[in-house]
Formats: sequence, structure tokens, C-alpha cells
Amino acid sequence: MDGEWRAATSGATREILDPADALPFALVAEGDEKDTDLAVAAARRAFDGGRGGWPLTPVAERAALLRRVADLLVRDREELGLLESRDAGKTVEEGRVDIDCVADAFRYFADLVAGDAPGRVVDAGSPDIHSVVVHEPIGVCALITPWNYPLLQASWKIAPALAAGNTFVVKPSEITPLSTVALIDLLAEAGLPAGVANIVTGPGHSVGARLSEHPDVDLVSFTGGLISGTKVAQAAAPTVKKVALELGGKNPNVVFADACATEEGFDTAVDQALNAAFIHSGQVCSAGARLIVEESLRERFVAELARRAERIRLGRGTADGVECGPLVSEQQRSKVEAYVDSALKEGAVLRSGGKRPEPSPERPENGYFYEPTVLDHCHREMRVVREEVFGPVLTVETFRTEDEAIALANDTEYGLAGGVWSADAGRARRVAGRLRHGTVWINDFHPYLPQAEWGGFGKSGVGRELGPAGLAEYRETKHVYQNLAPKPVRWFAG
Ligand code: NAD
Repeated sequence: MDGEWRAATSGATREILDPADALPFALVAEGDEKDTDLAVAAARRAFDGGRGGWPLTPVAERAALLRRVADLLVRDREELGLLESRDAGKTVEEGRVDIDCVADAFRYFADLVAGDAPGRVVDAGSPDIHSVVVHEPIGVCALITPWNYPLLQASWKIAPALAAGNTFVVKPSEITPLSTVALIDLLAEAGLPAGVANIVTGPGHSVGARLSEHPDVDLVSFTGGLISGTKVAQAAAPTVKKVALELGGKNPNVVFADACATEEGFDTAVDQALNAAFIHSGQVCSAGARLIVEESLRERFVAELARRAERIRLGRGTADGVECGPLVSEQQRSKVEAYVDSALKEGAVLRSGGKRPEPSPERPENGYFYEPTVLDHCHREMRVVREEVFGPVLTVETFRTEDEAIALANDTEYGLAGGVWSADAGRARRVAGRLRHGTVWINDFHPYLPQAEWGGFGKSGVGRELGPAGLAEYRETKHVYQNLAPKPVRWFAG
């Protein structure tokens, strides 16, 4: 913090485990409330520093710095991709793609802020009035991130926060802090002044909670689970700070039979349903974990899906040919196992997976592996259909009519993302228009664009990341009204 690395005030440390073998491979400071207060104070000083400080830095300079960060990310792509793989358990290729997306986020916000109008002149109805609406940074931002896409989620917050001229304290997930630590070094290398970017590694209940309630924090942007997000909002309420929440999802993937009328269409829809559910072992907020398939197609579709799910190569993310890594922790795997057990007790039919795989050279015995699991004959009353499992578990439900498909897809307290597969463009657009989800893919699943807003309806969150709205989250709006010919108003006689 404040431009230098420090041990935790308490002296505590935490071992970071590789989820593929449960062995420690790094050690980080385990910060607490005291470290958080110090980091917030540093960010406050950097924000309140006046002339020459980051908030008053010309937009072109801020944009140039973000572009330098993107270049440094590209330079360190291999190293960072590997770090992400070891920390979060994903394959190295996924780690590399994450780093590309992180660099894209920095470039996008550099371009957006550089091309932005400095303000909007408002017609006040008189030539003697000059009225302008301008945007200013909010202040000190607390950025709290999860473990599934450690650097990507951090970049969706850090890039717009810096572009808008804020200072920040980031708190990565306590189990995957390494790539965010590395990014702080890259920000310094790119020339960011000391105190603008601060990081505290440590647990949510101390560091995250303190950031959320801190009176000197002006905004908290949180990505993580529903329960933690609710706590953040409650802790933030007494100080009336701005709150942005990116929470979980229980995302439907609706497949109409007409999408599979040709062999090519069938192959594509099955392939993408597999990808929707099982990439990164399903530990994706927008995972297509609910397959909602037209009744007439069910048997053929699910049989092929289960066949391909069984062939997914599980193993250490750094091993050759591995397609899917382990779950991130023992706790996460136990949670997944409990959901599968409860689903089977409630009548679901197991079509693939449902267990830990046998150990192998690329799959150490102590790794947190779990087989891609397809549960058929599921229904909306089951916990596994209603709650976010956040693991490699796909549930199957069926529909007969378009209205039934829409009702099923919207029958969730979440509303993050969903997919619609149909060869009938009119039907696909009609259904997409009625889905209550922040992102809807038609004949695709998972892609996102930095230019397009990302966020959820319902309990999937509040606010948006990416796109122009993702920058607006980090700005205050100010109206400056200037009277060029002031005169008394004489409202009061005396
Ligand atoms: P989590 O809620 O356990 O933790 C997220 C972060 O919050 C961590 O840094 C954690 O330390 C911190 N935290 C925990 N308790 C806190 C508290 N009381 N106050 C403040 N901070 C606290 O989530 P996770 O298990 O790390 O991540 C998985 C969740 O994240 C899933 O629900 C997933 O859907 C969600 N997610 C959402 C998006 C999105 O874009 N909507 C993206 C990625 C992940």
C-alpha cells in the first residue's frame, strides 16, 4: 500500500494452495482491519492531494497509463496466465485467455475515457446563464473480488476506477490473490503514483467487511456470492456509500428442437451446452447450469451431452491435453457433492459424473477434482435447480411450448445470463426479449464484449460493469450553473 509492500500489521501470513494437489506454492500477508485502515488512509491522501494528484490528471494521461498497463499485461501474459492457472485451478490456456481479456478491459476503458466529452452544456433558457453537467471521480473505491476469474473481475473494476480518476483499495479473494498482487506491481511500473492503487490481502469477514463499512470509502464494488453481497450492502448502508454488486446466477440455456434439425445444428448446440455448463468446472457466474430443452429433443440431446461430458479430460491445469481443472477448494467440492446428493434424493436421474474421478498422473489424489455431472429429470422445486451450485453440475428440465420455456427460464431469483437456441430468428428474438436476465445469447453462450454492459437482474446484482455504464459507476455527476449577469431576486422585501 502507498507505493510499498508491507507485511501484515499482525505479522500473519497465509499459504496459497494449488487446487490440483492441495500443496502450498506461495505465501501472502494475511491483512486485517488495521491494514485496511492504513490502505484506505493512503488512498484517501492520494485522492485528496489536490493539484498534481491523480483525480486532476488530464484524461489523456490517464488513458495513456491504462494503455501502458495493457502492454505490460501482454508482455507478462505467459507468467500471469500460469499464475492464474495454479491459483484458481483453470487450464493454462484459460489463464492466458483471461489475461488477454484483462488487457482488453484496460484498453477499452482507456479509449472510452479518452473519447468522452468533458461535459454537457445545458440550455438554461437564458443567454446570461452558462449551465454545464460534468463528471468527476467519486473518491476512494473499495474493490472486492472473487476467486473464479481473479484478475479479470479485478480489471473490470480497476480499469474504470482509474480511468475516471479515483483511487482504490482492492481486496482479492483470500484464496486467489496472486495475480492481483502482480497487477499492482504493473500499475506502478506503468507510472501510477504511490497511494492511488492499494491492495490488502486477507479474509472477507475482516478486510472486506471493514472496507464496506469504512467512513472514508466512497464506493464499494463487490463481485461474489449473494450472501456476502447482502452483507456488503448492509455494512455500506450507514455511510450511504455507493454500492455496486455483481452476484451469482442460475442461468438457463433454452434449446428448441428446431435448432437441432440438422446434424450440424445438433452438434453445435450440444457442444455449446457442454461449454456453457462445464468450462472452468462450472465455476463461472454465467454458467449455463440449467438446460431447458424441448421435450421432443430431450432423449437424443441428453444422451449425446452425457457421452461427451464423460470424455472431458480432467487434470492439473498445467498438464498437456487437460480440458478442465479441479474445483478451487475442498469446501467448494463438498458443496457440489451435497447438491448432487440432494438432487438424487429428490428424484434426479444421473446421466454422467456424480463422483470424484480416479487419480492419475495428471490428476493427483489430493486435488479437488469432480466429474462433469449431468442430472436428468430435474424440476423447479429441487434445490439443485434453484440455487447456484458453482461447480460442474448441469440440470435438465423440459418444455413443450414457447411460453413454458420462457416461464421456466425466468423462474429464478437470479437474472444474470441465459441462452436461446433456435433456427427461427423471430422466435429466438421473441424469447430473448422476454427473458429477465442481464445478458441473453442467441445461438451462442458465454461471450461478452468490453463495450457491452455486464450485470444482473433480480438478485444477480445492482449496477453494471463494462460498457459506458461500467465507467459511469465510478463517476459523480455535477451540475455547474453560472450566472453571467447576477441581479438581486427580491424574494424577501427587506
Ligand atoms: P464470496 O462471496 O465468498 O467472496 C467474494 C469476495 O468477497 C472475496 O474477496 C471474499 O473474501 C469477500 N467477502 C466475503 N465475505 C465478505 C463480507 N462479509 N464483506 C465483504 N467482503 C466479503 O464469493 P466467491 O466464492 O469468491 O465467488 C463466487 C461467487 O462470485 C459466485 O456466487 C459467483 O456467481 C459470483 N461471481 C459473480 C460474477 C458476476 O459478474 N456477476 C462474476 C464472478 C463471480
